[in-house]
Amino acid sequence: MPMLLALGMLVASWRSEELTQAQAQLLSHAVLTTERLQALQTQAILILELLALQEWLPDEPEQCLAQVQRTLAILPRSFANLLVIDPTGQVLCNAKAPEKRHNLADRDYVQRALAEQATGVGGLIIGRTTGTPVIGLASPHKAADGRITYLLGTSIELGEIVADLKERLPPATQWWLLDGQNQVLASADPAAYPLGQAFTNHHLLRDIEEKGEHLTLRHTDAKGQLWLVSHMALGKNAIGDRLILARPATIVLEPVNTIMAQAGAILLAALLFTLLLAWWVAHRFSKRRITPLLTALQHIEYGDFTVRLPHRGGQDELDRLAQAIDHMAKTLQAQDERIRHQQAELVYQAQHDPLTGLPNRLMIANDFAKTSAKAKRLGERIAILMLDLDHFKTINEGRGHSMGDRLLVTLATRLRQVLREEDTLARIGGDEFLILLEGITRDEQVIETLKRIQQMFKEPFLVDGEPFELTASIGIALYPNDSIEFERLMQQADAALHQCKSEERNSYRFFAPQLTEAAEARLAMEQMLRDALRLGWFELHYQPQARLADGQRVGVEALLRLRHPSKGLIPPGQFIPVAEESHLIITIGAWVIKEACQQMARWRKAGQAPAYVAVNIAARQIVHDDLPATVRAALQESGIPSECLEIEVTEASFLKNTEEVLAKLKALHAIGVRLALDDFGTGYSSLAYLRRLPLDRLKIDQSFVRDMLHDKHDEAIVRAIIQLGQALELEVIAEGVETNDQAKHLLALGCPLGQGYLFGRPQPA
Ligand code: C2E
Ligand code: MG
Ligand code: MG
Repeated sequence: MPMLLALGMLVASWRSEELTQAQAQLLSHAVLTTERLQALQTQAILILELLALQEWLPDEPEQCLAQVQRTLAILPRSFANLLVIDPTGQVLCNAKAPEKRHNLADRDYVQRALAEQATGVGGLIIGRTTGTPVIGLASPHKAADGRITYLLGTSIELGEIVADLKERLPPATQWWLLDGQNQVLASADPAAYPLGQAFTNHHLLRDIEEKGEHLTLRHTDAKGQLWLVSHMALGKNAIGDRLILARPATIVLEPVNTIMAQAGAILLAALLFTLLLAWWVAHRFSKRRITPLLTALQHIEYGDFTVRLPHRGGQDELDRLAQAIDHMAKTLQAQDERIRHQQAELVYQAQHDPLTGLPNRLMIANDFAKTSAKAKRLGERIAILMLDLDHFKTINEGRGHSMGDRLLVTLATRLRQVLREEDTLARIGGDEFLILLEGITRDEQVIETLKRIQQMFKEPFLVDGEPFELTASIGIALYPNDSIEFERLMQQADAALHQCKSEERNSYRFFAPQLTEAAEARLAMEQMLRDALRLGWFELHYQPQARLADGQRVGVEALLRLRHPSKGLIPPGQFIPVAEESHLIITIGAWVIKEACQQMARWRKAGQAPAYVAVNIAARQIVHDDLPATVRAALQESGIPSECLEIEVTEASFLKNTEEVLAKLKALHAIGVRLALDDFGTGYSSLAYLRRLPLDRLKIDQSFVRDMLHDKHDEAIVRAIIQLGQALELEVIAEGVETNDQAKHLLALGCPLGQGYLFGRPQPA
């Protein structure tokens, strides 16, 4: 912009200078022309005055004519004519047109010559004889008395001056030579302005009138034409003769305009280029900086308020925009976090019991779909335990709700402690809790939890150091046995709970009655086992093992019996499984080993001892007891040699924790104890174990022996086991031998030993 302004100012001053110069040029031409005209005039006056001194014989026309003609021929070419005029203005002799004797009394130069008695010079006129623009001159010839006798006149032609003007003026310059009446006497374009035509530029003429007669006038008209009016000042009184010069400003300013047009074009191009460059730079620059802003806004639009823009520390609009976006993202993030937090809080509150912080019924119902789907996939059960405190109302009303609340909180804490990690505890009512036991594969797991809960209730609940005795009733429903729907299961657990309350508080009931019975029976059995251990109700019966060939006793198997004071003798089939599940088998088993060893010692002392006593060991016993230590202790205490003790294990023993079991059996074998594989053929163990086990004996299960005489397949199995034993160099003994035929056949098949009623029933020592 400043460049354009500067250029504009430059153009303006250059233009005015050019115009001034053009005007000065025109003025110099005008001055030159005037000077030339004056020079011509001065010369003419001088010549005419000299000639006027001569005698021109006006009274003798022929001589006069001859004289003027002769003289004219030798005068400079500008002298158009030579006349002799009498004082009345009458032409007496006319060199150029002898016949023309017109009167020139009206001519100003004639009048002036007569009036001033000196050479009179006229203004520009159209010569009457020449018909061309001329200046008339007349010089008086005086008699001796000073009277004017006649005048010598002449016309000076301007041809030379006009030619000179045409030649010298710059091209396209127009000019007019005007007389006092504004008649055109000569012009650059004679066709447009014939001689005598009135000059028609009225504006200029008015200007000339207004500005005064003698001034040189400069004028630029509306069309940009430069005008110069120069007064020729020919003679004193020759006012009104003017030279008008005109030049179109367009031509004068042509070089300025051309150069300026070029400069303008260059400037415009530069400007355009600069603008384009600026646009391109701005575009690239802003794009580079705007893209991250747009990306950030997109992130914000999609809810990602963690987006942050790098701060350049600048202060332009984009920087401020980036800061604003950053600020907005931070604010939104804070708001979002607050909302999320509040939402989580609300969700938590909606799903939890405010007193204990435990999940409420809603949450447990929501989770059940997931929990049950998992159970279904794994083929497991879920137990729903609904627990209600007995007579809690009494505490609440008697000791106040605040005390009641604290008691509930304590209870919740204690309950949580007796449950497994994967079990869910919820509070679903005032003194009502719901427990979800997941991953149930055996009913005993439920019973075990119930027992732990009941055990927990036996301890008083301390609130502010004050003990409270509480009991609870529990109703249980099982998924999927009772139902697969949560609401239904809740109803069933509730029904069981109510039954419990109406029949016997401080107890539990399954929704399925048989489960309650089974659970109760099992519990009773456990209690009985504990009593048996404590009160010494266990006893061992011994069954002989004999050589089939001659019935000679080789050893005995110790078989456990429970002699209940009122129920009598209870077979192991009824209590061993319960003992195994409750882990009581470990204490019981240790007692059996100890007792068998001691009996062996007694026999040995009495001198009627069998070669060995075989003891049955349950699978769980091997895993959970330090069996080698127990055996070592029993042997030590009884003082019998280790080969007098045989350990019977079943295939079930090494189905789980195989390596651990193998290690323990090897340790036992290292002590010198014999190992027998009981009930062989009924388990699912791989024969590969047989090679890894440090076995001494295989016991063919009695189920094969029972029908071997009538069932080919059983016989084949028995035969195969005997052969296997022989191949592995293991002693084979057949169980359940009841008849002689069986004994004979077994012997025939290669089995040397047998155990069964044929040789003796299990009997006390
Ligand atoms: P088992 O080790 O196979 O014991 C042999 C069982 O067969 C005994 O039953 C025995 O009385 C019975 N029996 C013996 N001869 C004959 C016969 O000719 N015919 C018939 N029908 N049965 C016969 P019991 O004493 O009832 O023992 C059953 C199972 O209890 C035993 O099977 C053993 O696995 C387990 N058991 C016994 N005592 C103990 C023990 O102290 N600890 C452990 N863990 N299990 C024991
Ligand atoms: Mg046995
Ligand atoms: Mg057996």
